Amino acid sequence: MRPVSLLFHDVYESDPGESGFRSPAADRYKLSLHEFEAQLDGLCELRIPSPESRIPTVITVDDGGVSFHTVIADRLEALGLRAHCFVSTDYIGERGFLTREQIRELDARGHVIGTHSASHPARFSAIDAAQMRREWSDSRERLEAIVDHPVTVGSVPGGYFSSKVAEAAAAAGLRTLYTSEPTTRPCKLDDLRVVGRFTIRRGHRPDMAFRFASAAPWARCGAWVGWNAKALVKPLLGASYSRVADWILEPNR
Ligand SMILES: [Zn+2]
Repeated sequence: MRPVSLLFHDVYESDPGESGFRSPAADRYKLSLHEFEAQLDGLCELRIPSPESRIPTVITVDDGGVSFHTVIADRLEALGLRAHCFVSTDYIGERGFLTREQIRELDARGHVIGTHSASHPARFSAIDAAQMRREWSDSRERLEAIVDHPVTVGSVPGGYFSSKVAEAAAAAGLRTLYTSEPTTRPCKLDDLRVVGRFTIRRGHRPDMAFRFASAAPWARCGAWVGWNAKALVKPLLGASYSRVADWILEPNR
């Protein structure tokens, strides 16, 4: 059975501004601690031995916000879980983001440290190929200097994936690249494995992680349909996109 990869962002205790990027668009993806714990509870239900109802799950967290260290890691570890922590390296040590020491510690605690680009460009797929390659290789080198071993996994900022984004990642030495396309079907580009993820965002029902990671395919199909509808309207809507994306995603609440 193919694993299901879940995509989380920051988790906050009282205010979304505590961790990660500070904007209304970024806040749409942040979960309160209560919401995050409800999603983890759902995943734990799936761990009750029942092979036919359970799919292997990979937890990933984007952006490199400080909450991975202050909130997320402890909760995961208490349940015997680890996650992929994708860091945008230009923000290391900035307010609301992980420091070098915290990244090194998380690596030692068994979490997988990966790149989420250097500068988190607003539209990654729109920058030129040389710049894409620099984003991957500069961030990768910076993380390797911190954790002192190879870093070969990354995730695409903002979900702006294209074949050129993957080519640049492969050329920069990445071996696995996570996108935001809600699919369990990985694809291969030379030595690079491209893996989709299912996003859990603000306002999702508390059992969303459970539904994505359970054997019944309905929630995953719904996410795929919603994502493709968004992909269709994204280029047409410009500034209105966020509002319409919320409307499309409303049925998930
Ligand atoms: Zn991001």
